[in-house]
Amino acid sequence: MPERDGRTLAAAASSDVPVLIAGGGPVGLTLAISLGQLGVRCEVVDARPAPARVPRAGRCGSRAMEIFRRLGLSARLRAAGLPAEASLDVAICAGSLARPLSRHRYLSVAEILANMLEVNDGTMPLEPPVILSQYTLEPLLREAAEATPGVRVRFGAELFDFAVAGGGVTAMVHTASRMRTVRADYLVGCDGADSTVRRVLGVELRGETREPVRQALIYCPDLYERLPGGAAARSVQYHVTGAHPCTLVVQDDTQHFTLYAAAAGPGGPPLTTLFEAVAGAVCQPLTYKVVHEDLWPQQLLLADRYTDREPGTAGSRVFLAGDAAHPASTAGGLGLSTAVGDAADLAWKLAATLHGWGGPALLGSYEAERRPVAAQAITASFARAVADEPWSVDLRDGELGYRYTGSPVISHAGGASPTGLAATTWPGARLPHLWLDDGNPLHDVLGSGFTLLRIQAAGDQGGAGARGAPTDRAAVGFARELAAEFGRLGAPLDLVEVTSAAAQAVYPGHRLILVRPDLHVAWRSGDSLPSAAAVAALVTGNGGGGRLNGG
Ligand SMILES: Cc1cc2nc3c(=O)[nH]c(=O)nc-3n(C[C@H](O)[C@H](O)[C@H](O)COP(=O)(O)OP(=O)(O)OC[C@H]3O[C@@H](n4cnc5c(N)ncnc54)[C@H](O)[C@@H]3O)c2cc1C
Repeated sequence: MPERDGRTLAAAASSDVPVLIAGGGPVGLTLAISLGQLGVRCEVVDARPAPARVPRAGRCGSRAMEIFRRLGLSARLRAAGLPAEASLDVAICAGSLARPLSRHRYLSVAEILANMLEVNDGTMPLEPPVILSQYTLEPLLREAAEATPGVRVRFGAELFDFAVAGGGVTAMVHTASRMRTVRADYLVGCDGADSTVRRVLGVELRGETREPVRQALIYCPDLYERLPGGAAARSVQYHVTGAHPCTLVVQDDTQHFTLYAAAAGPGGPPLTTLFEAVAGAVCQPLTYKVVHEDLWPQQLLLADRYTDREPGTAGSRVFLAGDAAHPASTAGGLGLSTAVGDAADLAWKLAATLHGWGGPALLGSYEAERRPVAAQAITASFARAVADEPWSVDLRDGELGYRYTGSPVISHAGGASPTGLAATTWPGARLPHLWLDDGNPLHDVLGSGFTLLRIQAAGDQGGAGARGAPTDRAAVGFARELAAEFGRLGAPLDLVEVTSAAAQAVYPGHRLILVRPDLHVAWRSGDSLPSAAAVAALVTGNGGGGRLNGG
């Protein structure tokens, strides 16, 4: 973006903050909490007077919940969601809920949890998903952000314009009573599908916009108990076939429901008529209230670039995250998961740069890592949107199985990356979850900065490692050198020795694994060890990208 003249705005600046976040939706608030926890002051401004009770995402996926766990929020969010024992089945009905045709069985959260405690082969996430309405999630995130030291949250404050100048950003924020100017080192546009930040940057969107869907959020406190079949045969989603097909989805408190139907053609019944026909057949008297009703645009769009600079150019001051970068809202899609993942990737890179240890390539890697993930999520969400049976399209691959294959701050391994949900420490992959011998998850033992895992091989006490792998003594020496290099840069590094037998099975052949603050593997040892200085420089964005050794 060409620098606009920020001198006039800067002259009137009324406050300074390292990071200004436009948008207090799930991404803006998650980013703010993450930055605050990393010791970075930030301000969130949101144009709405307060988070609103409108129908949007209804589920927090496993990866998003892992990210919330790192922030200390997952238990609070889970407690606010649909109870773990509730059925997550999907029912198909003819004309009304009274005439079920078939039922597709899915594991409840309680069943997923039970499996997760049994299986320790790295294929399970640490957190199961939770049915949590976005209108429940947002106030909880707002509360957490407001309680985080260094974070300021202002609703009723709209980012109006900004200019990049003088090594920072000068932004104009409009509140009811006045126009305020804010000077920030960085601006992050978390301002959703109609992003002002994206518009001011002149960034184009590409992709597909499908027919909009009509949607309503309906309060109907008696319906859940009256759903056919009782507790054992309830579902969380009801697809109703017939002349006017529609979908009814149970919300987290079981007292609210969302109803979706195709945009009304001539003579199409209003949503209230549809609801009465569908639900009235099992619940009389049917007492209900429409809380919100609107048209839902079905977008599958991706921004051409994520920053104010061309891809691969260092020095960006403005970033796009979440729906601002990839408006991808289709029912049951990956919009929310992808958006929360953006915040997790960007937060530590902004903090590292502001704390002085992140090199120029670090912020540049944000787009290189996250844009391909969004493209992949859009492809998967599209496949689901056009499927005859969308509920049977499995999106876990797009949610948990992605790897950062083109990142300049990851030491890439040779050969082809394993695909899908395979447990792998392939550099760029998320570190597979593992229960340690003491029953704690390895993820919980990792520090808030980088962590070097030293995996002890079976029967190996200072002798030779597995075929080709460095000896334990060499690994200990390397860990010491790496700690010294991180210390020189001022970058945080924890050393963790992993002796659990399961770790040897899940992470075979790699004695050392360097994990980033966002749980992605940055480097792993191969047959030989590179220089510790080169590893430290690469992963902190202070060195040239590439492959340091055959991991
Ligand atoms: C109807 C619907 C259903 C959906 N269903 C699903 C689903 O089933 N699964 C799924 O994963 N995802 C779903 N999504 C997508 C999901 O809701 C989004 O991916 C998610 O909200 C993205 O979060 P965000 O913080 O990036 O953007 P948003 O939630 O859109 O938040 C952006 C915020 O920015 C604020 N803002 C806008 N402009 C400005 C400005 N100039 N200054 C200050 N503030 C501003 C807005 O007020 C808003 O609070 C759905 C979306 C919709 C619309």
